[in-house]
Amino acid sequence: MTLPTLPARGEQCPPAVELERVATGEDVPAVAAHLPTCETCRAYVEQLQAETQAFMKARPAERFVTQLQRRKPSRTPFVVLGVALAAALALLVVLPREQSPVLFKGSLLSISLKRGDVVSTLREGDTLREGDALRFSVKTERPGNAVVLNRDGRGKVTVVAPFNATSAQVVKEGTTVLEDSAVLDATKGRETFVAVFSEKSLEVAPLVGQLEAGQSVTCAGCVVDVASFDKP
Ligand SMILES: [Zn+2]
Repeated sequence: MTLPTLPARGEQCPPAVELERVATGEDVPAVAAHLPTCETCRAYVEQLQAETQAFMKARPAERFVTQLQRRKPSRTPFVVLGVALAAALALLVVLPREQSPVLFKGSLLSISLKRGDVVSTLREGDTLREGDALRFSVKTERPGNAVVLNRDGRGKVTVVAPFNATSAQVVKEGTTVLEDSAVLDATKGRETFVAVFSEKSLEVAPLVGQLEAGQSVTCAGCVVDVASFDKP
């Protein structure tokens, strides 16, 4: 799913990320007050909602869990993640694009959470629990390649989006929801997610190695965004 392109908007319009939060069902009072006054933002939110609903309808979490239980080979769309106690600060820093003209530092990754029937955007300090289904979006100002890794509390590293990918997913500029998602298992601890973007093609194996070794994930010309969450 590729999200609709953000339309040109006025100076008083809220940041795109706030519109996305509203589209996922969050209550953002400033946006709620703005929408009735702004046709452009309202249309964008409606478009986002329609896309999200269509996506969730087409790929309900339950279906992926079922597929997983059947142990289908290779590309199981959902991954059951173990505990994560990997350190790293919880950060899901989402800055309006206008504030980061250099590159997309700090605004690369956003994670949407489906818990029961409710879809929301994960934020710093949120906690995760068993059964949570996560989808990963990247927002970039240039086309390139993106991948998301997970490290659990045992230090086990899984490529979660696209699942088991050996090379990163090609993305256009703008916001792209990456292929596949993850459903969390019952293990408690800390879950760490690392998103990596590169304008050039990206080999995933070295990144997995770095994360397994407990190192920071780096690569030449890459943008890296880390988010971690407690799972009490
Ligand atoms: Zn507006």
